[in-house]
Amino acid sequence: MNKTKIKIFLKITKIINKKFCKDKLEINKIVFFNGKHKGKKNDGYYAVNSKIIGISKKEPLFCQIRTLLHELTHAYQNQIMNCKGKHNKQGERVFYKFMKEIDKTLKISV
Ligand SMILES: [Zn+2]
Repeated sequence: MNKTKIKIFLKITKIINKKFCKDKLEINKIVFFNGKHKGKKNDGYYAVNSKIIGISKKEPLFCQIRTLLHELTHAYQNQIMNCKGKHNKQGERVFYKFMKEIDKTLKISV
C-alpha cells in the first residue's frame, strides 16, 4: 500500500517540478515516518541537506497530499527562491499555486 502512495507522491512531485521549477527541484527521497520527527509530533518535514521529504503515515491520504505540497513549498523556497523556508505570505502563495495545480490533476485522473 505504501508503494502505491509513494508512486502518487512521486508523480505529484514530478508535476510540480515540471510546471513550476523547470525540473530543477531535487527531491532525493520521500519517506514515511511514524508521526514523530526529532522527538516532536509532526505531519511532515523537508530536510534541507539530504533533500528528503518525510510524510507522517498516521494521516489520511488527503492530509498527506497537503503535507507533501507544504514540504514541496519549503523545497521550492530553499532551492528555487534561494531563501529559508518560512511560513510567510510568499510561501502561502506558492503553496496555493501548487494546490490548485494538483487539484486539477487529481480531478482529471479520478
Ligand atoms: Zn512548514
